[in-house]
Amino acid sequence: MQSRILSVLTPLFCAVTPLALAGGAAKSTDALTIYTSSNEEFIRPIFEKFTQESGIKINFVADKGPVLIEKLKAEGANSPADLLTTVDVGNLWLAGEAGLLAPTQSAELEANLPAQYRAPHNEWVGLSIRARTIFYNPKKVKASQLSTYEDLASPKWKGKLCLRTSNNVYNQSLVASFIENWGEKKTETVLKGWVRNLAAPVFASDTPMLEAIAAGQCAVGISNSYYFARLIKDKPSLDVKLFWADQGGRGTHVNVMGGGVLKASKKKELATQFLVWASRLEAQKLLSAMNYEYPVNPKAEVSPQIQAFGNFKPDAMPLYKAGEKQRAAVQLMDRVGYK
Ligand code: FE
Repeated sequence: MQSRILSVLTPLFCAVTPLALAGGAAKSTDALTIYTSSNEEFIRPIFEKFTQESGIKINFVADKGPVLIEKLKAEGANSPADLLTTVDVGNLWLAGEAGLLAPTQSAELEANLPAQYRAPHNEWVGLSIRARTIFYNPKKVKASQLSTYEDLASPKWKGKLCLRTSNNVYNQSLVASFIENWGEKKTETVLKGWVRNLAAPVFASDTPMLEAIAAGQCAVGISNSYYFARLIKDKPSLDVKLFWADQGGRGTHVNVMGGGVLKASKKKELATQFLVWASRLEAQKLLSAMNYEYPVNPKAEVSPQIQAFGNFKPDAMPLYKAGEKQRAAVQLMDRVGYK
């Protein structure tokens, strides 16, 4: 997909009320450039809302996270971008490792977003939460048979488990969290068990895997919660159900869509103001609802459709630690033959 530069303009009819933001009110000439991996149709209304409320225009470039990171590396100090928003701690951590992100300081940001979902110096912050949990076919499996991620390595699931490819950053972060929580040895044992239990070759993405569960090709699998929400919105009677993994232990693995201020930005204060705005209740509600995710700000409203999945305990591990273990995760998955 080719990068496109798009612009969100302040509607003429809109009375611009500058936000009460740290660093003073925005000038009408202010503009931010955001590189985003979010779907253009989802993210545009969010940017428009920010512009309406702050008077700050947003130009954005939409592309895949790793593509944007390469673009930022190539542009270096001359990059026109002020902010990067992308999915998964794996990508955010990669951007930080490449030296692209600047630390941010804001008491409001830190009050709104729990430390677990931010980099140590707020080089990036989580803006919405997705859970990566267990899904099952209720005609083949009872919820009482399910428990943890590691249980899916047990021989009782032989020929019943389906997984997305290990090339995907979501699985890399999931395995990185296992390495952080359990160490490499136990993680290797679990992954070997998963590979032994596969019912079908690994899937290119979560949705076809969920569909294979519904079709009975697989009994269980692991997917991000929003793919399930999207799928059952159109087909509510599908034979797929969500199970919250590891509720008696560490809790279900969670990850984020998030953003960070870029080191090359000449408008770091303004860029920080966008993140502060995005951490507030109304923006959090919008940001999480656009992709059936959970808000990071614990005071923000969860959309009713997501609320219907019930409450769950998320793994409390600080997410950046999954970033640090990304490479080890990729090597381990390769070693055990997880394709
Ligand atoms: Fe996704």
